[in-house]
Amino acid sequence: MTPGLMQTAPLSTTAILRHGAANHGRRQIVSRTVEGDIVRYDYAQLARRAERLAKALKDLGVRPGDRVATLAWNTHRHLELFYAVPGLGAVLHTVNPRLFEGQIGYILRHAGASVLLFDPSFAATVDRLKDQVPDLRHFILLTDEAHAAPGAVGALCYETLLAAQTPGFDWPVVDENAGAVLCYTSGTTGDPKGVLYSHRSIVLHAMAGGLSGAFGLSAHDVIMPCSSMYHATAWGLPYMALINGCKLVLPGDRFDPPSLHSLITGEGVTFSGGVPTIWTMYLAYLAEQGASPGRLNRVVIGGSAVPRVMAETFKQRYGVTVLQIWGMTETSPMGVVATTTPDLDDLTEDERDDVIWTRQGRTQFGIELKIVDGSGAELPRDGQASGALLVRGPWTLRRYYRGERDVVDAQGWFDTGDIATIDAAGFMRITDRTKDVIKSGGEWISSIDLENVAVGCPGVRIAAVIGARHPKWEERPLLVIEPHDGHVLTRDAVLDFLRPQIARWWTPDDVIFADIPLTATGKIDKKRLRDTYRDHLMEQPAPRDAPVAQTQS
Ligand code: ADP
Repeated sequence: MTPGLMQTAPLSTTAILRHGAANHGRRQIVSRTVEGDIVRYDYAQLARRAERLAKALKDLGVRPGDRVATLAWNTHRHLELFYAVPGLGAVLHTVNPRLFEGQIGYILRHAGASVLLFDPSFAATVDRLKDQVPDLRHFILLTDEAHAAPGAVGALCYETLLAAQTPGFDWPVVDENAGAVLCYTSGTTGDPKGVLYSHRSIVLHAMAGGLSGAFGLSAHDVIMPCSSMYHATAWGLPYMALINGCKLVLPGDRFDPPSLHSLITGEGVTFSGGVPTIWTMYLAYLAEQGASPGRLNRVVIGGSAVPRVMAETFKQRYGVTVLQIWGMTETSPMGVVATTTPDLDDLTEDERDDVIWTRQGRTQFGIELKIVDGSGAELPRDGQASGALLVRGPWTLRRYYRGERDVVDAQGWFDTGDIATIDAAGFMRITDRTKDVIKSGGEWISSIDLENVAVGCPGVRIAAVIGARHPKWEERPLLVIEPHDGHVLTRDAVLDFLRPQIARWWTPDDVIFADIPLTATGKIDKKRLRDTYRDHLMEQPAPRDAPVAQTQS
């Protein structure tokens, strides 16, 4: 080979920090703290505080490769850790505080973290966890002296540690393939598994995320991550913000609609992102209050399928474009984003919306997708054939943290556990997760498609469809609905709403009205629903509806 003659400076989170401070130094960061007040500063000050923090952690004995854990919400202090810890060559381990305490203990032990930084609201949890995690040597409360209470763990105070340092730090050169951020999957299918992002994967993912074929970020944007910083780095937004010079608004621990609305309108937020449940509540709030979302013009929604009615309402009522994304912790998490392409130019606006709103996204450079059948043979990209979705690329995982072997095949393909179609323009549509798919009389029924229609029924707040055991058809769809407050819905009204929009044999065998449990990442907890209702149709062997034909109509 003839070696290229270009520079090989490693891609690193420190390079992002330096760029943000040097070129967008006065851009604001607005953070709602867990104590409730609003903190304002800028990228130049962020860099100075990250330097002090790095020095403080080094003084506590943090060395390259060490894991430094957080139990923290979306605040400026957490942001400082996003840069200081990887900048030292150590690994920031963001723990999801919504998990059960037993799982949090398991994750901390598995990761072997030596330092834990936590918001004051988790003090009692940390006191209880302390003895389960013997490797933890230092505890630091993410607060100031006025709010610090050392508790049983004798926690140090974050602001006191920073104040004791001077700014200025000679950041080490870190290998771009070194581990930077460790994030565990939510554990709905067994023990949580660790995904260890490298500096390189973080930088490439964050660069790609800002492109116009993805989030289309610019220095004129004001972005507010409503996905949690502990969950796959809030979709990379804390890094994308500095790369693109966007003003960054951090909502702390308050994701309720009034709190979000005051930041969206007060700070001029143009771009936000989060799981559908957050936006369901926010849209209901806007409608109740007769309010408008100010300058907001793009909302990225993913983590589970975006109901069509949500995208429609955002666009038609508020002029806000919904960008659906699909991804998972294992893909950093951005996989595909639903943006338009000249391939759709010949369509009417309605037809174009229809494509964009019913697809999870279009393949971006940096992530390759393919679908395969049961024998592993690749299926055509015709928008019809559906099969197991495999992905690969420089920000897709190769092996879980402390795993003994790679979880990709010899060509680097990772099986996502999703079932999808892909079309010629690169649009991918998830039809189900492998474990959620309903197999009725040998045919597949898409729970996602059914949920998408059901959630459009007036009065429905959340709709979940699971496969319930059935004496004749193995499984039949069962629809569980959580209505909006004050709405009274009947089974027949819901089924009448569904019928004209779905194949007849997809009609759910029953409708249950109940509170729908969510997972620690805000998704419908299908596992719990299945545990509760799996035998619902067996208990009622004679469904009130006439048996449905097992042929597609
Ligand atoms: P995490 O969100 O922590 O990665 P999961 O592994 O449970 O946890 O989430 C990834 C899964 O979420 C994907 O494999 C897919 O099933 C689902 N998902 C994410 N985005 C979408 C979307 N836009 N539409 C449908 N499903 C989605």
